[in-house]
Amino acid sequence: MRLLILPGDGIGPEITRPVAPLVELVNNRFGTKVRIETHPVGLAAFDVHGTTLPDPTFIACREADGVVLGPLSTSEYRDLGAGGVNASARLRLDLDLYANIRPCRGLGPASPPNMDLVIVRENTEGFYAVRTMYAGSGEFAPDAGTAFALRKITQAASRRIALRAFDLASRRRGKVTAVHKANVLALTDGVFLAACREVRQQFPDVSYEEELVDASAAHLVKQPSDYDVLVTTNLFGDILSNEAAQIAGSLGLAGSLNHGESHGVAQAAHGSAPDIAGRDIANPVSMLASVGLLLDWMSGRAGDAGLADAARELDEAIRQEIGAGGLPADMGGRCGTREIQDRILSRIGGRRTDRSQEG
Ligand code: NAD
Repeated sequence: MRLLILPGDGIGPEITRPVAPLVELVNNRFGTKVRIETHPVGLAAFDVHGTTLPDPTFIACREADGVVLGPLSTSEYRDLGAGGVNASARLRLDLDLYANIRPCRGLGPASPPNMDLVIVRENTEGFYAVRTMYAGSGEFAPDAGTAFALRKITQAASRRIALRAFDLASRRRGKVTAVHKANVLALTDGVFLAACREVRQQFPDVSYEEELVDASAAHLVKQPSDYDVLVTTNLFGDILSNEAAQIAGSLGLAGSLNHGESHGVAQAAHGSAPDIAGRDIANPVSMLASVGLLLDWMSGRAGDAGLADAARELDEAIRQEIGAGGLPADMGGRCGTREIQDRILSRIGGRRTDRSQEG
């Protein structure tokens, strides 16, 4: 199997650095046969190839079994003209990565007890200007002081994301919350909710509720343990998942997988954090947790149980390491990026470094 690493911008190279050694450990330990390739993307690719997404990189992504994409400094791409391609958006659209899966668990010492939820976010339409139109942009300005943005919601996309959410909930605690704003977006969220209600009929054992997005934003802060799986449209899912990650302990903790029927891309939930790049203080957990989600997804596609075992082991190693107090700066600790990565990998390699046994 081929797994691609695209390091990305800002903290991207630092947080994707352990992926290759991790895969080597996984191959040795679980008998999997994952081959790693690294391809250029982002500002480093632009310097050499004149584009942030060279064609060979895109083609390799299309042909790979899985992709690990580091965060991208997309706000800097506007100055690059036609060479500034948002690889994240292009992959989501062209590889039809319709589902964005963002689990949030209370891991850190200050996390709310029993918080264990997954946000299932529709990834191909919604309020994203480049994702709504066949040609042209979904955002436009008729005069200098007026601008419009179009929100596209379709039955087909709503149905398949609802199906993904209900299926996931049926294998978890059996509850789906559909998050919407149908009181003011009656037609678009009407389509979304109708699809959720239709899919619900196929899952009689999963309980279902609907909640306005503003209420969810408050409810998440007040009682995050009430939720199991939240399903929602693109922009709401983006915002709520960052909120949920921070409630769980930090934006730097949240894993994120983008997938469709035939492609999977692991991406940290956060951006490229240029303010802390190169300082060895970035939280590496989000990226590693995303890789775990990808390995699990690849296991389902390839029927390779070793990959699922590896994903479980990685998840456990992260939980233990953060639980043991190996906290990065964004969670109030002093552990550097590389130190946390090494500790997590050493737990997987069977050379556990329990703090209780350290001098
Ligand atoms: P950001 O998520 O990069 O950073 C927001 C804040 O969180 C910053 O203070 C940052 O230091 C902190 N942070 C983020 N990740 C962290 C981590 N792993 N460990 C510790 N702290 C972390 O958002 P931003 O600053 O608004 O955007 C920076 C760049 O990233 C922009 O160019 C933006 O367009 C881009 N972006 C890319 C993606 C993506 O590639 N998927 C997503 C969001 C933003």
